[in-house]
Amino acid sequence: MKQYLQTPVFKAISQVADSIERETYVVGGFVRDLILKRQTTDIDIVVVGSGIEMARAVAKKLGGVKVSVFKNFGTAMFKYRGMEIEFVGARKESYHRNSRKPVVEDGTLEDDQNRRDFTINALALSLNEKSFGQLIDPFMGVKDIEAGIIRTPRDPVVTFSDDPLRMLRAIRFATQLGFRIEEKTFEGIVSQKERLEIISKERITEELNKMLMAPRPSMGFKLLEKTGLLPLILPELQALKGVEKINGIGHKDNFYHTLEVLDQLAERSDDLWLRWSALLHDIAKPRTKRFDPKVGWTFHSHNYVGMKMVPKIFQRLRLPQNEKMKFVQKMVELHMRPIVLSEEGVTDSAIRRLLFDAGDDIDSLMTLCEADITSKNEVKVRKFLRNFKIVRQKLKEIEEKDRIRNFQPPISGEEIMETFGLPPCKIVGEIKSAIKEAILEGTIHNDYEEARTFMLKKGKEMGLKG
Ligand code: ATP
Repeated sequence: MKQYLQTPVFKAISQVADSIERETYVVGGFVRDLILKRQTTDIDIVVVGSGIEMARAVAKKLGGVKVSVFKNFGTAMFKYRGMEIEFVGARKESYHRNSRKPVVEDGTLEDDQNRRDFTINALALSLNEKSFGQLIDPFMGVKDIEAGIIRTPRDPVVTFSDDPLRMLRAIRFATQLGFRIEEKTFEGIVSQKERLEIISKERITEELNKMLMAPRPSMGFKLLEKTGLLPLILPELQALKGVEKINGIGHKDNFYHTLEVLDQLAERSDDLWLRWSALLHDIAKPRTKRFDPKVGWTFHSHNYVGMKMVPKIFQRLRLPQNEKMKFVQKMVELHMRPIVLSEEGVTDSAIRRLLFDAGDDIDSLMTLCEADITSKNEVKVRKFLRNFKIVRQKLKEIEEKDRIRNFQPPISGEEIMETFGLPPCKIVGEIKSAIKEAILEGTIHNDYEEARTFMLKKGKEMGLKG
C-alpha cells in the first residue's frame, strides 16, 4: 500500500502527525477503493485526538490551503489538487432508538473502526512514520473485497437498527461494486426493513440515485424487492411485479421487463433523468391493465396515466419538481410513439409530429425506445432496431428540411389579428393551429411565405376579409 501514499498530502499528514504525536490513519472508502483500483477524490483521515487541529496544521504545511471547519461535528476539510480531504477525531458511537444520529464520544482507532457500516469500509492505513502504510483490518475486510462480499462487522440486526440508512448503503454498494450481500447481513436487512421509516426521504433518494447510476442498476432494485424494502420506497414499482393469467394467457412481468430496459439504457446513457425515465416508463401498467378476450392483455394509455403519476412520485421522493421532472414526464408520455411509428410505417407527417412533441429531447427518447426492446426473439430485436435506425435517419432528414425540433409558429397571433382586423379571440387561435397542422401534415413547408398564403386562404374560407 505504501507506494500509493507517496503523495505530498499524505507526506504532509505523516510529518504533522509525528510532530504533534498523534496516531493518524487514512480510513474507509479511500482504502477500499485503493484496493479495488477505483478512482476516488475523497480522503477521510482519522486522528486519535483533534481532527480540526490536524487539518489546520496540515493545511499550513501545504502552503496555507483554506480550511473549512465544522465545529459542531468536530470535523474539518480542505481541497487540494482535486482531492477533498476530511479530518475527524476517532470516535465511539452509541444510538437511541428513534434517531440515526448517534451520541458521540472521543475514542480509539478500534472504537472508530467498530462504528463503521461494512467490513470493506472499516479498513485503515497508518500514516505515522514508523508504521507508514500498515493496514489495520480488524474484520477481514480485504478478504471480503477479494470475494466481493458486503458484510457488517458486528451483529447486522444491531447495525441496521442503529442506523437503517445502512440497509440502503449495503444494497447500493452491492450494486455499484457488483458485490453479493452476505446471508446474515441480508437477513438483517429483511428483519429491520420497517426501521427505514426514521430515514429522511432525501437520504433514501440519494441512495436510489447512486444505484441508478451504477453500471447495472437492476441489481439494486432486485435487492430492494427481495429484502422487502421496495414497497416502502416505491410501491408503484413493486406493483409491476407478477404475471396474471386469464384463459391461460399471461402478460410479461413488467417489473423484470422494466429492469431489463433500465440496464440496457444504462449501457447507452449516463443521464440520471433518462435512467429515471426508464425506471418509470411502464409505471402505470398495473393501473391500466385490462383483459380483452379478443386481443388478450392491454395497457391502454399507460403512457398518459404514467406521465401523470410522475409528479407525485417525484414529490414523495423529494426529487426536483422542475424541468428534470418535466423531462421524465415527457419520456414516459412519448415512449410508445417511435414504436408505433416503426410498426405502422414511417410517414413524414408522423415524423414531424414526433419531432414537434419531443423537441430537443428526441435523441433521448430514441435511446429510451431502443433500450425498451427486450424480446427474447433475436429476429424480432433485429427488426425493431433496424426500424428505429430508419426512424432516426428520417428524423434527421425531416429536421434538416423542416426544422420542426424547436418549432416557432411562422405567423404570430398579432399578424393574424392585424391582417383580418380581429380583436384577440378564438378565431385567431384556430387559424394559428390550422397553420401548425398544415406544416406538421406537410401541406405547406415551415416557411413564412407559404404560411402567409395559407393563412389568407384559410381566412377567406372562414369568411374573413384580409
Ligand atoms: P461513497 O463515496 O461511494 O459514498 P464511501 O465509503 O466513501 O463511498 P461515505 O458516505 O463518504 O462513503 O463514507 C465514508 C466512510 O464513512 C465509509 O467508508 C464508512 O466507513 C463510514 N460510513 C459512512 N456512512 C456510514 C454509516 N451510515 N454507518 C457507518 N459507517 C458509515
